[in-house]
Amino acid sequence: MRIKSRDDNGCSWVKVLQYPNLHPNQSPKPRPKGSQAPHKTRHLLWRLCRGCLPTRSRLLERRVECTLNCPVCDEEVEDELHIFFRCAVARDSWSAAGLSSVLHNATYQQTNAMDRIFVVCSNESSDTVGRVAMLLCCIWHNRNDKLWNDNVQMPRQIGRHAFDAWNDWYSVHKLQSNNVSGTTEADLVRWKKPALDWVKCNVDVAFASGSGRTSVGLCFHDSSGHFMAGMTQ
Ligand SMILES: [Zn+2]
Repeated sequence: MRIKSRDDNGCSWVKVLQYPNLHPNQSPKPRPKGSQAPHKTRHLLWRLCRGCLPTRSRLLERRVECTLNCPVCDEEVEDELHIFFRCAVARDSWSAAGLSSVLHNATYQQTNAMDRIFVVCSNESSDTVGRVAMLLCCIWHNRNDKLWNDNVQMPRQIGRHAFDAWNDWYSVHKLQSNNVSGTTEADLVRWKKPALDWVKCNVDVAFASGSGRTSVGLCFHDSSGHFMAGMTQ
């Protein structure tokens, strides 16, 4: 599998998928700042790729007696491929989320849901990968809501919710990333002592609005960085 090396949003997805033995909170190396995907979506992908999602075919594999039919459409056997990609509700949700081009892309027609997700993560932009993962999360939530609470959502609601949830998360995440990088740059600006035989004078001024007064402060250092003199006025 091709490995993405970029540090922008979404790389955590790829890492989770490339290291399926890891817990979703673990990473093979320190995560780049601000590149984490939403926790619940990372957790879902991890469970999916580990074969831990309790779809009905998985439950039967583990000798749990249950009906095999998809709890959403009640028409086909529920496995990962069906519930996320082939179920009529899932397909319409992909369209509603604006991701039908990904769903129908000829490159992503693997018959195993994990393989399909791996290839999508390798080929698509981090933004698209994030949107896809959020949608998978919403589809799974809808499936459970139907199963346990008998709540039924329309595909357009599921797709729209995924779209909005990703946009919300992304704008907050981007804001936080900007703050982090701003701090880093500020930390890099440091005072330096002057060259040999030079004296450095640092000046700062203040203006008090309303009073019409200004003040100034001066500070002199020699080439060893020692304080020589200062004044305020
Ligand atoms: Zn179904």
